[in-house]
Amino acid sequence: PAAPPAERYARSAASHAEAKRYMPGGVNSPVRAYRAVGREPVTIRSGAGAWVTDVDGNRYVDYVGSYGPLILGHAAPQVLAAVGEAMRNGTTFGMPTEAETRLARTVVDAVPGVDVVRFVNSGTEAAMSALRLARAATGGHRVIKCIGCYHGHTDAMLVSAGSAATSLGVPSSPGVPAAVAASTLLVPFNDLDAVERAMATHRGEIACMAVEPIAGNMGLVPPAPGYLQGLRALCDRFGVPLLFDEVMTGFRVDHGCAQGLYGVTPDLTCLGKVVGGGLPCAAYGGREELMRQVAPDGPVYQAGTLSGNPLAMAAGQAQLDALAADGFAAYRRLEAASARLEEGLRGLAADAGCPLTTTRVGSMLGVFFVEEDGSPVRDYADATAQSTRRYAAFFGAMLDAGVILAPAAFECWFVSTAHDDEAIEHTLAAAGPAFAAAAAT
Ligand code: PMP
Repeated sequence: PAAPPAERYARSAASHAEAKRYMPGGVNSPVRAYRAVGREPVTIRSGAGAWVTDVDGNRYVDYVGSYGPLILGHAAPQVLAAVGEAMRNGTTFGMPTEAETRLARTVVDAVPGVDVVRFVNSGTEAAMSALRLARAATGGHRVIKCIGCYHGHTDAMLVSAGSAATSLGVPSSPGVPAAVAASTLLVPFNDLDAVERAMATHRGEIACMAVEPIAGNMGLVPPAPGYLQGLRALCDRFGVPLLFDEVMTGFRVDHGCAQGLYGVTPDLTCLGKVVGGGLPCAAYGGREELMRQVAPDGPVYQAGTLSGNPLAMAAGQAQLDALAADGFAAYRRLEAASARLEEGLRGLAADAGCPLTTTRVGSMLGVFFVEEDGSPVRDYADATAQSTRRYAAFFGAMLDAGVILAPAAFECWFVSTAHDDEAIEHTLAAAGPAFAAAAAT
């Protein structure tokens, strides 16, 4: 591919050079450093609706969407107004506020598996806390986890080992104690037999079966028909709590989250991203008798100085209220825009002779540069069989044409209600040549 035009990115390059002096990789979350796509990151100045602007003044249609929270787009007026109003009354108290109860009620009313909820500050914290609760409630120390699913970077969950079938976990990072990693049992996504074997082999030792009901951290991999129902049945048979990590899917795919969409109710649920309206906020919740074991109602300790923060509560409430308005019209708009985007991309890839598989649930879209056009992507093995070189070429061409995607092949695209016809048309105009560049790589 052609070298990126240096003058277009001059100020970002200078900014990133300085950032690297003070922060690992110059970033506060690794993917932002663009290492997987062989480019230098652009430094962002501002966002509005579907668009972001970098420090050089380049504008981009944005499908990163801060990795999921921004379902109304950047700087959504309802969210800004709510945060502004909350802010004038003080930023944090460490004492109860009515805003927490209001958002908690909204969550409990919307999410079938959540009777009681606790707000925390990140998805990592939600998964960590839900796992502790599951361990306390069952006495089991093991967690069953799908290869390629991400539940934040808490030790027991930072295990995904790309390797075969059910096996004892190997840590994905130095610093995770081997003993902790070994308590994590790995199964391929969409494979019920592997779950059954793990449950039968480790009867009485399993704290929970954790899964992203729609896998969004290996690209987008939807559950096969019957998979979630099958997990529910296995969990019931073996007496294992079912944990849906809906940090990404919660309030994105439906007001009732993935569990509402597929009609499968878990025992425990993690939420994040959309529920916090773009401020640091996440939550875990579940069945009454489980959640009453959390302190101070019960002995399972978990706390947070900034948990239930008034600004985050206001942002989350404003965003969820906007999504619910007019009979949940936002979800129908998201579906229409995302379907148009997916169709357009498929057609352009075919025209460019670039083999492609797309996957989609509502406004979450997966684009895989597979070997054979349309070959199915059901699990991590399928997802990682795609060409990351082609993705890198595609990514670079899109960036240079004013469309910003996640800088790694294994993230999904997030469409917002602000992605209007103009934004989608701009995206598709860029994608034709970008698929040609990918096909030539
Ligand atoms: N669970 C899932 C399903 C996620 O997608 C993520 C973040 N991408 C997390 C947990 C971790 O959330 P956070 O980055 O807020 O810690």
